[in-house]
Amino acid sequence: MNKLADALPHIKVSDAPEDLICYGFDASGIEIAPSAVVWPETTEDVVKIVKHAYANTIPIVPRGAGTGMTAGAVPSQGAIIISFEKMKRIIEIDQENLSVLCEPGVINGKLQRELELMGLFYPPDPASMHFCTIGGNVAENAGGPRAIKYGVTRDYVMELEAVLPDGEVIMTGVSTAKGVVGYNLAGLFTGSEGTLAVVTKIRLKILPLPEEVLTLLAIFPALESAGTAVSKIIASRILPRTLEFMDQETIRAVENFKPVGLPGNAEAILLIELDGHPSAITKEAEKIVAVCENLGAEVQMAEDEHARNRLWTARRAVSPSLYHLKPTKINEDIVVPRNKVTEMLMRLRKISEESGITIVNFGHAGDGNIHVNIMVDKKDEEEYEKGVSLVEKIFRETLSLGGTISGEHGIGLTKKPYIGMELSKKEIEIMKAIKKVFDPKNILNPGKIFPE
Ligand SMILES: Cc1cc2nc3c(=O)[nH]c(=O)nc-3n(C[C@H](O)[C@H](O)[C@H](O)COP(=O)(O)OP(=O)(O)OC[C@H]3O[C@@H](n4cnc5c(N)ncnc54)[C@H](O)[C@@H]3O)c2cc1C
Repeated sequence: MNKLADALPHIKVSDAPEDLICYGFDASGIEIAPSAVVWPETTEDVVKIVKHAYANTIPIVPRGAGTGMTAGAVPSQGAIIISFEKMKRIIEIDQENLSVLCEPGVINGKLQRELELMGLFYPPDPASMHFCTIGGNVAENAGGPRAIKYGVTRDYVMELEAVLPDGEVIMTGVSTAKGVVGYNLAGLFTGSEGTLAVVTKIRLKILPLPEEVLTLLAIFPALESAGTAVSKIIASRILPRTLEFMDQETIRAVENFKPVGLPGNAEAILLIELDGHPSAITKEAEKIVAVCENLGAEVQMAEDEHARNRLWTARRAVSPSLYHLKPTKINEDIVVPRNKVTEMLMRLRKISEESGITIVNFGHAGDGNIHVNIMVDKKDEEEYEKGVSLVEKIFRETLSLGGTISGEHGIGLTKKPYIGMELSKKEIEIMKAIKKVFDPKNILNPGKIFPE
């Protein structure tokens, strides 16, 4: 520790037990204490930290807010955590070119608010937006409810300043609306889970704020009809900005945790939002209401901003509320083609009934992205093992429907045993070779993504 502090004068460094505990876990629940935590304030600070780690072959792990679901920011043994809490400046909002340049520690929700005040819009909105960072979003290629219409983080990353594992700094990508010179390194770093480079500045594309937003809550007496509504809405040539799904267990868990008046007897609900010109979205809403009512749903419209916020508060409370069902949730993040959502939900129900383990489902149904939560108690070894054994089964079903095992949470530590189920040996070999080009000493977030 003394050696580290000596090597990094003017940079806050700690190995206090409370810091090692607080920076040793994320939302996956996995805990491994780092050897130290450092808080850089500038790119130059990051360069010094990375050069020190490179010279001494010490693993380093960048960390945003630690809301990752797959242990991406959980340190490997002996690693130094680089926390971006002090690098949280919005450097420039370029209204003429519609872009924003910021540091990685900026909280997504703060950026959204700042832009909205100026009539601007940054669409990617993970349900964790009020506490996750833009750096973490870039590293995970985060999505969110609005991805159905607006895409994910990678669709907005224009250029990145990145510190490579030997301490060299590059600015890669473009600050223009287009650019195709050479390989897209900014695109490659996006979603690389902090394994290729440490991102220190981010230029994001932004949009004009949509004129109006309209929010609907569709309440379904049958789970199947909610799944069918998703593909029927898309097939009716409407692209809502959100199409979120909650099953009955989820609704009840949220109501017990943060009651907002969701219907506990419904088998499923869809939270549907449209944005754009008022007359256009009113017509689209009428079509959606007809689709849902034909499938037996009751549809309510949020009367005002307050009612809309209430629904979104409930949606954002889903993840924490599930811990009231069971202390441990094995959280998966599968995606199936939208027209296979119903089939997947039925298969999940069967797996749950056959195993006797509660499986709770919610998520971005408009993308076919279902957050599957296997609810167990880690202290009950038998139940926990049984829960873990369901993961492979669920992934097999997902892949058999043409799906993918992760839509937005990444691989990190928790999903690395399974990537061979989806990727070929050749693909994994190419990806490992890319990692080696950037990080020949394997010091940057080692042990993530690839099985040993
Ligand atoms: C309640 C809840 C809801 C969520 N909802 C969503 C959702 O709707 N959509 C979604 O996509 N995700 C969601 N997530 C997951 C999580 O919030 C996202 O993955 C988010 O992008 C992580 O951001 P973070 O700042 O917490 O990153 P961390 O968890 O700190 O880190 C995540 C990864 O990014 C790397 N990293 C962080 N900063 C940098 C940097 N500057 N340079 C290089 N690598 C870096 C880390 O090493 C790690 O691998 C949710 C999580 C929770 C707890």
